[in-house]
Amino acid sequence: MTSVWKYLVLFCVFIPVFRALNSNDILIIVSYDAFRNEYFDRGVTNFTNELRKNSTRSKFMRNIFPTKTFPNHHSIATGVYSDDHGVTGNEFYDFELEKPFNYSYEMFHYRSEIVPIWILNEVSGGNSGCMMWPGSDYLYNGISCTHKQHFNMSENLHERVDQVMGWITNKTSPANLVMLYIEDPDNHAHAFGPESQQITDLVGKLDKMTEYLYKKIKEKSLESRVSVVHLSDHGMDSLQLTNVVDLTKIIKHKVSYYGNTPVMQIVPVNSSELDEIYKELKEASESTQKFKVYLNSELPDRWHFHNKYRVGPITIVAELKYGFHDMIDAAKWYEKAFNITFNMTNKYGVHGYDNALESMHPIFFAYGSRIKSFNEVEPFDTVDLYYLFCEILGLPVPDYLKGNRDNVMGILKSEDGARRMNRWVVLSASIILSSMLVSVLMIFMKIWRRNRSNIPSYLYEEDTTVLDDTKILNSTSQPPTLSTPLATSSTRFNAF
Ligand SMILES: [Zn+2]
Repeated sequence: MTSVWKYLVLFCVFIPVFRALNSNDILIIVSYDAFRNEYFDRGVTNFTNELRKNSTRSKFMRNIFPTKTFPNHHSIATGVYSDDHGVTGNEFYDFELEKPFNYSYEMFHYRSEIVPIWILNEVSGGNSGCMMWPGSDYLYNGISCTHKQHFNMSENLHERVDQVMGWITNKTSPANLVMLYIEDPDNHAHAFGPESQQITDLVGKLDKMTEYLYKKIKEKSLESRVSVVHLSDHGMDSLQLTNVVDLTKIIKHKVSYYGNTPVMQIVPVNSSELDEIYKELKEASESTQKFKVYLNSELPDRWHFHNKYRVGPITIVAELKYGFHDMIDAAKWYEKAFNITFNMTNKYGVHGYDNALESMHPIFFAYGSRIKSFNEVEPFDTVDLYYLFCEILGLPVPDYLKGNRDNVMGILKSEDGARRMNRWVVLSASIILSSMLVSVLMIFMKIWRRNRSNIPSYLYEEDTTVLDDTKILNSTSQPPTLSTPLATSSTRFNAF
């Protein structure tokens, strides 16, 4: 009974108070994989361009190295670099567990205390909806998104919007946080190249999807509660197969390759040959100027890429427009998957290069009830976003974050007087109601205990609420027999 009592107090007092302290806001985070800033200049994003003018935007964001999909989505979701969350690539070798990782539970579980924003939202009393977001397929400390859609490219853009709006308007578990992932323009840009007409057409479709999202928000009368953050994980550049470096012709020793263009781990089969392999690569790097080579100790600090278990003893990084021999196999795969004629002069889309390069930078703009209009902020780091998400959702900020809160606070409107007053009214009402509920429960408990004390002790066991009939039958005194259990009892642009 004691534990039941504790849960009742928790339910009646802390959760309502916490939810009251939390905002009534809804946050939608939309990630358009590999959307680069230049796409806004192609004349096919009329709605989005108007939206950006009226939003808070930055010229770009500083993403993490490598500029690959899984590391960056997990940094957006956790507020830390790959050193801490452990997702050092889309695939890599783990030296502690001695096996390579692709997309898997282990990839996203390096330190148990670091959890994605959708988990923090869940444990704080909210409901999260995860639409195909990388890493959202798995439990974290036994918890998952209330609403979830696994990766499924056959679900079209408008269907995804309809599904997340259904989560937000769900009668029993309305989502206050939605992570909406779109695999394009990345998916098609790898095959056709970012400069292609196919990508221009696709960017136009994404513009229509964005417009549809705001149309649905308006239809549901949620404009006063919804803030939408639009972003990407990285940009995109291109290379031709004539610029591929065949590492097998440079390295004369036996090695294993992990990762893919333009970042690879080189792992010697015989660890004693590490120095010789590094020397071979270093000489080729200096003579060709087509890639750089690093021992783990030489990796630039600005990359936050020193994870000793998940970064190889040697890391090679191609210069922009260059790649490695794995691109030949990738091109053959695109040939089948996208019906493209294999050609050494085709331009294939590539990302993963140094995050200081302009073409690798992601986009950022935000619009909605908590976001300033007609506002531009200086470029900031993707790991800063976690502070923004916590502020909008009213969540407690973890102490392990690696971003800078000050970089993103200029995105938010200052809380106006009416809004602040409204929040305190809700909080006060919640405390009063919770106190009344607890008082009623306490009175109920007192009555229950008093009634129980009137029954001779031999008639009940302390740990059970059911009378032991055997004791009654064997008793010499004859108290009333109980055969039933004891009681259990402006000119502001309107995008929506
Ligand atoms: Zn990506």
